Amino acid sequence: MATQYRNNSLCMEEVALDKIADQFGTPVYCYSADRIEKNFNAYRKALGLVMPDSGFTICYACKANSNLAVLRLLQKQGAGADIVSGGELYRALKGGIPVSKIVFSGVGKSEAELEEAIRRGLFQINVESEPELEMISRLAVRLRKKVTVAFRVNPNVDARTHAKITTGKKENKFGVDIRQAPALYARAKKLPGVEAAGVAVHIGSQLTSLAPFRKAYMRVAELVKTLRKQGHNITRVDLGGGIGITYKDETPPDLSLYAAMVRDVIGPLSVHVIIEPGRSIVGDAGVLLSRVVQVKKGRDKKFLILDAAMNDLMRPSLYGAYHAITPFKKAKAKTLYDVVGPVCETGDTFLIDEKLPELKAGDLVAIMTSGAYGAVMSSNYNTRPLAAEVLVKGKKFALVRDCQTVEDIVARDKIPGWVA
Ligand SMILES: *Cc1c(COP(=O)(O)O)cnc(C)c1O
Repeated sequence: MATQYRNNSLCMEEVALDKIADQFGTPVYCYSADRIEKNFNAYRKALGLVMPDSGFTICYACKANSNLAVLRLLQKQGAGADIVSGGELYRALKGGIPVSKIVFSGVGKSEAELEEAIRRGLFQINVESEPELEMISRLAVRLRKKVTVAFRVNPNVDARTHAKITTGKKENKFGVDIRQAPALYARAKKLPGVEAAGVAVHIGSQLTSLAPFRKAYMRVAELVKTLRKQGHNITRVDLGGGIGITYKDETPPDLSLYAAMVRDVIGPLSVHVIIEPGRSIVGDAGVLLSRVVQVKKGRDKKFLILDAAMNDLMRPSLYGAYHAITPFKKAKAKTLYDVVGPVCETGDTFLIDEKLPELKAGDLVAIMTSGAYGAVMSSNYNTRPLAAEVLVKGKKFALVRDCQTVEDIVARDKIPGWVA
């Protein structure tokens, strides 16, 4: 948890969060730099213990939280980046992440995005289909580059996570069928400009047990052995996203157990290991601060209406995800509330029948564990400006993204002459 009470006021590191709310307004995202660094270094340590230091690269999955300050913070800890768009490539480079540590994933990369990636000479492009492989080869030849690629295979393993973040089953749009992989590596060998040196897999996000990871990695290890027998020089394995985190009562496995499993299953291959954690680096490092707008008594329910909404944090409405709410002052939880946002959608609900301390209009709360897939998924629905973001480090804190204004949003609209 990135927050704790001090003198009965909710703090992140050494900063009282009401100070941030007063200074920058609400809703506002706050991230703990310390926690982000600790989370990243936990991966480094766990993998470092089971593999030689040069044996792996941790490519932070930017899509979880791509704020430049977060990227820079991680770059300084030695992180690479896993990107899924040209926009994220731009951010990763601005964050100072070297191209030699950037992996480009994604199910539908455009020709323009691939061209930029090839021009820059990224560490690896994870290929999702044969036509994409052919496009990369064409572009590489035109740009006189040699591109290192890995096929992202779909191992048909159930990650046992939320359906909307399951990616490794045969009916999912991601990856190439693992049974078709040998034919694709053979095809790649014949194409100029590409070198298929890796195998990549990513079966989903928020996995809270090791079993599906192990199953997928075993299928990958099997494939690597098959490919080597067929004469392919496979030197890298990309293991995809990191392990799940605790939002409510989930008990994800310890990183040391995960690392030991990787050593057991992948270690004997003597490959360079890439891992792309996102959620587990930034998720528990962030909170969304919000104020109570009103308390409304319905017929059977009490609604706590916040100034944060589904446009700021989409996970509850998109996935039915649970995010705990922590009041700014510690008090006994004794009132049942439905905690909702002000947006005109019934889905704009954070919590149902949640026991919280008695709260009133103007009170501050923190929506917990919001550092991953929070700000990055926000929208302007209901013409609500994107929230500001603040980074905390010890006693220091700074705005790392300005709050949008309504003028910013509306300025992009145009009325054609034939309407005016
Ligand atoms: C989303 C994603 C990740 C990050 O997953 P987390 O669960 O946030 O660690 C890694 N790799 C790929 C290809 C992804 O799509």
